[in-house]
Amino acid sequence: MLRCDELTKFSREPNAYCRTYLTPEHRAAADWLAEKMRETGMTVREDSVGNVIGRYEGQTEQARAVILGSHFDTVPDAGKYDGNLGVITAIECVATLAATGRRLPFAVEVYAFADEEGTRFTTGFLTSSAVVDGIINFPLRHVDQDGKSVADALEDYGLSVENISTAKRHSDEFLAYIELHIEQGPVLEENDLAICPVTSIAGQTRLSITIDGKAGHAGTVPMPLRRDALTGAAEMIIEVERVCRADDRLVGTVGTVNVSPGALNVIPGEVEFGIDIRSGDDAVRQSAVESLLAFFRTKAKERGLEITTEVKQTTPAVACDPELLKIIDAACADVTGRSLQLYSGAGHDAAIMASLCPAGLIFVRCKDGISHHPAESISLDDADMAFRAMMRTLERLAESWAPV
Ligand SMILES: [Zn+2]
Repeated sequence: MLRCDELTKFSREPNAYCRTYLTPEHRAAADWLAEKMRETGMTVREDSVGNVIGRYEGQTEQARAVILGSHFDTVPDAGKYDGNLGVITAIECVATLAATGRRLPFAVEVYAFADEEGTRFTTGFLTSSAVVDGIINFPLRHVDQDGKSVADALEDYGLSVENISTAKRHSDEFLAYIELHIEQGPVLEENDLAICPVTSIAGQTRLSITIDGKAGHAGTVPMPLRRDALTGAAEMIIEVERVCRADDRLVGTVGTVNVSPGALNVIPGEVEFGIDIRSGDDAVRQSAVESLLAFFRTKAKERGLEITTEVKQTTPAVACDPELLKIIDAACADVTGRSLQLYSGAGHDAAIMASLCPAGLIFVRCKDGISHHPAESISLDDADMAFRAMMRTLERLAESWAPV
């Protein structure tokens, strides 16, 4: 908890916690984390995209590793625990092993990911993607608000674009990736539980819907003759809520609505709204999207409106590894005496790392489910339980997985 407090000093502004990729405050935090890793006896290096990596050898040199990791970049005006808690806890686990000279049948690597939020260059998961893919998907030409490209920012930071592909790791180097992260939602709190394993990380569809009607005078066009784009859109938005409320595997949000011409005394002629639909189950999400689009078309026809639909983005759900999930579930139950499994509506590095090796995720309760906000808060007891669940996970892995 103290270390999460201490990390907040590496911030762009003194009064709002913000640390984005390849900035001076990012540099300072990376050096600080490297120092904390070194103090435990880990071998520490920084890879070609700025990830800080510590390695604690197992019973035999160069054994395959279990990765414990999370990210240390933040959103603007962030809380203290998003990402950072996972990194600090991972270091703490190794410190605990090292304090008694204990070696496991596998090595432990701690990954502190340099960019997950995508705050500076708008694309998230940059540096875990580089660990999986190398340079293939690295958006070198993306620019920040000041027009600086990822490529230039890397060079300023002291990294070389030519070396990016060396961040890539191979699946045969690893047994598993385990991430600890705050829940960023209210379900654990509602269940009066400190920690739990995560089954999958939600897939997502982003849609943009444009409704064309006919603008007109708010006083002179009789109601039956109107083609009001906004009242049509309103029915569609309510349908998004209805469909997602009817199935607890779904969440759906309409977060943007643009009305034109947008005057109090003019019938809305055109409305564009954006939908974000998520589920841990791709088939459930897909079928919800299809049923919504069918409803929208019928409704538009009924009201004499034109409709254009566009799928802006689709990301599939990522299931946590079932064997690893069992182990994490048992480890959490060792600590709490209870078992509850959640799916994650938010994206995490674990979803990226799952294509490299079996990945697992542990959630920690946060107060009122608040995250991406300075009010983000966890209790000391919960942090302790989370740490113990991570240690139990390592111990259970050591028992169940033979030396490799
Ligand atoms: Zn996070």
